[in-house]
Amino acid sequence: MSSVATRGPAVRVRAPGKVNLSLHVGSPGPDGYHPLITVFQAVSLYEDVTVTAADELTLSVTGHGAELVPLDGTNLALRAAHALAERAGVDRGADIEIVKGVPVAGGMAGGSADAAATLVALDALWGTGLTRDELTDLAAGLGSDVPFALHGHTAVGTGRGTALTPAMVRGEFHWAFALRAEGLSTPDVFRRFDERAGGLAHELDVETDTDVMAALRAGDPARLGQALSNDLQDAAVDLAPDLAGTLDAATSAGALGVVVSGSGPTVAALARSHQHALAIAAAMTAEDACEQAVCASGPVAGARIVP
Ligand code: ATP
Repeated sequence: MSSVATRGPAVRVRAPGKVNLSLHVGSPGPDGYHPLITVFQAVSLYEDVTVTAADELTLSVTGHGAELVPLDGTNLALRAAHALAERAGVDRGADIEIVKGVPVAGGMAGGSADAAATLVALDALWGTGLTRDELTDLAAGLGSDVPFALHGHTAVGTGRGTALTPAMVRGEFHWAFALRAEGLSTPDVFRRFDERAGGLAHELDVETDTDVMAALRAGDPARLGQALSNDLQDAAVDLAPDLAGTLDAATSAGALGVVVSGSGPTVAALARSHQHALAIAAAMTAEDACEQAVCASGPVAGARIVP
């Protein structure tokens, strides 16, 4: 008689990375956190998370940049699993398998997408039956970008970025993303932002968001390109000076607008069409302006079970 190894039931969830169309950063409050006003857009670079019933919690990571991802208790997917188990009073395990499609430490919230996907997957696997609001609440405790990875589409984030209001959007926007071999640490970028401010209070300046929202409503990529902004961009360029060349190359390649995504170092170039995005990506790669360039579109849905 031959024995066949069987595995328990499995659930697979896909969650998107994001680009910040605008990112306004205020001076840190007494708790050390910087207040934010940002417009997020979820784009079609995905993290795939599969959870399989098991006695213990285990984690494996493959895909782009997997060797850079911690496998210990600091991994956001494991933190999400522990948080859900505690909230739901569950004493069960799971094998968590992550396939990365979002650049690691790239300012596109790949780790947050893993956390959001893990919450949705384990909620289904363990039958914890939390409501969307309860999952969002757990997500907010895990990190600034995690609620948006659950939500997806396009939304305005305020506070720490966790209070979300959906934005009205017509049509699809096409992006070329220039990836950098070495990532940037988000806390380092915020520290540099504070150094640049030199102790002066930095008010949240939201004027450009009127333009971002109007461009989204109209489905007008040329207008959106003009309105892209990021208060962290100069700090990111200070820490990774080669980004100045990447930003220039994307502009020379005909992008409608160019911005560092989140805390960087990924550079987002907005295109007229998918073909145009491919042309911008090819030009940036040919000029050695980045390690690799990938194309994606948005908005797309947040963390969802793959049937
Ligand atoms: P942030 O959301 O803080 O802006 P980011 O988008 O720049 O981050 P991520 O890929 O999400 O970059 O991860 C940032 C850091 O978080 C990584 O360098 C890594 O040390 C840690 N990390 C923890 N869990 C994960 C995970 N599941 N995937 C990737 N990185 C993770």
